[in-house]
Amino acid sequence: MLPPPAGPTASDSIHQAPIAQRIAWLHDLAQRHGEAFRGPETWLERQRYRAQHPSAIAALMCMDGRVNLALATQLPAGIITPFRNLGGMFNLGWPYLSQLLIDYVNTQTQSGRRVLLLITYHWSRGERKRGCAGFRYRRDDSLAHAWAIHAQVSELFGPAHQSVFPLVCGFETDEEALLLHGPGGETLDLAAFSETPPPSFGTGAGAGTGTEPDALALEAQLVRTLPGLPRPVRADLLPLLLGNLAHIAAVRAQPARELVIEHREWVICLGRGFDFLHTPNLALMIGPYSPDLAQPIRTAASIIHSNMHAKRIPADGFLLLTSMPYENQGVERAGAALRARFLAHFATQVITEAHPDLAPLMHRRCAVLDWPARRLELLPD
Ligand SMILES: [Zn+2]
Repeated sequence: MLPPPAGPTASDSIHQAPIAQRIAWLHDLAQRHGEAFRGPETWLERQRYRAQHPSAIAALMCMDGRVNLALATQLPAGIITPFRNLGGMFNLGWPYLSQLLIDYVNTQTQSGRRVLLLITYHWSRGERKRGCAGFRYRRDDSLAHAWAIHAQVSELFGPAHQSVFPLVCGFETDEEALLLHGPGGETLDLAAFSETPPPSFGTGAGAGTGTEPDALALEAQLVRTLPGLPRPVRADLLPLLLGNLAHIAAVRAQPARELVIEHREWVICLGRGFDFLHTPNLALMIGPYSPDLAQPIRTAASIIHSNMHAKRIPADGFLLLTSMPYENQGVERAGAALRARFLAHFATQVITEAHPDLAPLMHRRCAVLDWPARRLELLPD
């Protein structure tokens, strides 16, 4: 496990610091995340985990920083491949997104791995307004959107789901609990599964040997909820659920959790590779997926604008950070750099047109991310 990113206290004070200090803090956060990710211990843990649980796991997620699946399932960092977008909105007809997903699935299946694709939405049990702002807090709408993506996955990768299994999955942010949705309307709510799961469960890669009573009961319920789930994928999904049970127990044991969610974002992230930014209400992350990128950029700029206006963040500046990942040196890195720069220029244009008063306050950083090492490299602008 990576240590969780900066705690609430650190981020609370940093929100009010001058912009140069905030940018330096963010850069430092990215460096620390990368160092922890590529350290020998975490590297080996990931290798071990992948050998024991060969199914590849990808997740479509909202950009909301509260949705942190690796933390909530106690998985080693880097096991879940994230696809994030503003409001959790995706369409597999978007050319770039569908090509990325096809490439991802091809790579996995060519090495014999099945793919578990988590199609997630988020909601709050305690307060509707802590739900997904992207769907105007309407949980039914986000669930319907997730099922629409589910149908597209069936169309793209086959309706029997033997190689790619799409799983509609809610994330309840108050307790950080998963809620699995079956095709026939059945649900498996991890928050309701067990009020007091034994704390020894789900402590990372060793979790879920399949012999504990909870694991057996969970597996039985999983079979009922997702009857079409191939057995090997079921075996690889169980550790996530056991990890989530342990995580829910840990969340419930915390004395007082701050659940009031207030917009105070001061960063617009555009591109991919912002895993290090799992701090709630810090950044607005926009994936490079939608053919109409201008629209989410305008939305993000409006949020920053109103944050400044309401004095929730200092009015001395905000950050536009673009990043694109690459796997290999040479052409791939050069291509990532070109794309990151293009995104920065494009976003600048959109923000300048939509909010001319905001544009002079923009600090711009372009980066590429060495994906296997999670090393963020800033580019000269
Ligand atoms: Zn959301």
